[in-house]
Amino acid sequence: MRQVPHWIGGREVAGTGSRRLPVFDPATGEVQAEVVAATTEEVRTAVRTALAAQPDWRAASLSRRAEVMFRFRDLVDGHRKEIASLLSSEHGKTIADASGEVARGLENAEFAAGAPHLLKGGYSEQAAGGVDVYSIQQPLGVVAGITPFNFPAMVPMWMFCNALVAGNGFVLKPSEKDPSVSLLLADLLRRAGLPDGIFNVIQGDKEAVDALLADPDVKAISFVGSTPVAQSIYETGTRNGKRVQALGGAKNHMVVLPDADVPAAADAAVSAGFGSAGERCMAVSVVVAVGSVGDKLVEEIATRIGRIKVGAASDPDAEMGPLISQQHRDKVRSYLDGDGGEVVVDGRTAAISDGPGFFLAPSLVDKVDTGSPYYQDEIFGPVLSVVRVDTYDEAVQLVNDNQWGNGTAIFTRDGGAARRYQYDVECGMVGVNVPIPVPVAYYSFGGWKASLFGDLHMYGPDGLRFYTRTKVVTSRWPDPATSEVDLGFPKVR
Ligand code: NAD
Repeated sequence: MRQVPHWIGGREVAGTGSRRLPVFDPATGEVQAEVVAATTEEVRTAVRTALAAQPDWRAASLSRRAEVMFRFRDLVDGHRKEIASLLSSEHGKTIADASGEVARGLENAEFAAGAPHLLKGGYSEQAAGGVDVYSIQQPLGVVAGITPFNFPAMVPMWMFCNALVAGNGFVLKPSEKDPSVSLLLADLLRRAGLPDGIFNVIQGDKEAVDALLADPDVKAISFVGSTPVAQSIYETGTRNGKRVQALGGAKNHMVVLPDADVPAAADAAVSAGFGSAGERCMAVSVVVAVGSVGDKLVEEIATRIGRIKVGAASDPDAEMGPLISQQHRDKVRSYLDGDGGEVVVDGRTAAISDGPGFFLAPSLVDKVDTGSPYYQDEIFGPVLSVVRVDTYDEAVQLVNDNQWGNGTAIFTRDGGAARRYQYDVECGMVGVNVPIPVPVAYYSFGGWKASLFGDLHMYGPDGLRFYTRTKVVTSRWPDPATSEVDLGFPKVR
């Protein structure tokens, strides 16, 4: 059985631990590799390696660090197909979807390549007589990233591009469910000229995460995953004195007003609800049909669902792949056994949902009761709920009362209503006739409420701020002839 190694000090290193974690091919259900879960000692080795290498990397010129990002960007560009097919072989998403993930990851290398401009501090000449004040952004030291299974290439790139270009050392703990692409990215960073030891990958699960959380040399942790784990990592990490940004789960509402273009809204709901089998943190999982739009919208969504081709990534016609594991597939499927809504399209009845592989065809549930598990849980699978409300105000109340606040979208032809929604809604990312409003890399990504624990969003300007700390220098070059003793508090006037 192929064993997935760590990456420490610029090369692959075989794991020495005794625990083995299976890596499935979700399209067949077979185990294709195994992760040797990292021990606490191995995590320590990775952190020490980064710690030893970081001072020289920090001392490298900004243009040198940016050059590595430029080269990395070109290497990722040149290896798009390889990265996409590797990640889809372990995740199960279609090649087209995986290619989109790589493209959105690449944006982060492009943004980070602009660091010489972005890391410029401020400078105030003559803040007081003969005194200048300026600010500097300095790296934190060694930082760690802990990433989820659903974007094994993009989410690590959200983190490490900015962290590295700012002069930090990095330890990545990717998802144990689709770990291999992290090694390909590590190798591309090496080929881009990143010095050995600056970027390290530790394979494993909670044990490795706990070791990172306890390690005093890890100065900051970026986490993306489910809400309970995000919250616990935020609490433990900050208690241990680290800077933490922890992005959690979501329940993304797509509000459709009566004046919306219904076919366009139905296209959007189906694309955003079932793309990547619903395993996206920005997936639309609830359509909120306002007023009279409900019946027509449900009919149009159901028609489109009937045309979705479910299959393995190796099938060029497939539009939606399997779920990540048998356990997860069974859990998602079990929602359809419960009450709380009218099942309009039942994915359980499709032949492909009986296996092999972890497939579940798309389902649509109308008239969902907001107290039911359909609405209360982040199902994270191809089950789209429709909640019917009478008014815009009820729709906004629903979204704002929900525990999560990652993304949301409104579909309408009324610019005033859209503007009001962007003002009223309590979510970090809003789409206006755009169902998956993932910001481009020169903005930042983050939800509100239980979708993010911490202060700064991820990637973009917030990302660079997260991976640097500010130093402010107050400087004077006095003329010795004018120097005097003055015990008063320094004044600027
Ligand atoms: P997960 O929380 O199970 O795992 C995420 C990471 O944490 C993995 O690396 C895993 O090994 C580690 N982990 C798991 N349990 C842990 C524990 N008890 N202690 C310490 N570490 C632990 O999430 P997942 O199933 O890989 O990913 C799906 C979830 O991630 C969904 O909830 C989804 O909404 C969320 N997600 C959020 C965003 C976002 O930007 N907000 C993006 C992608 C995914």
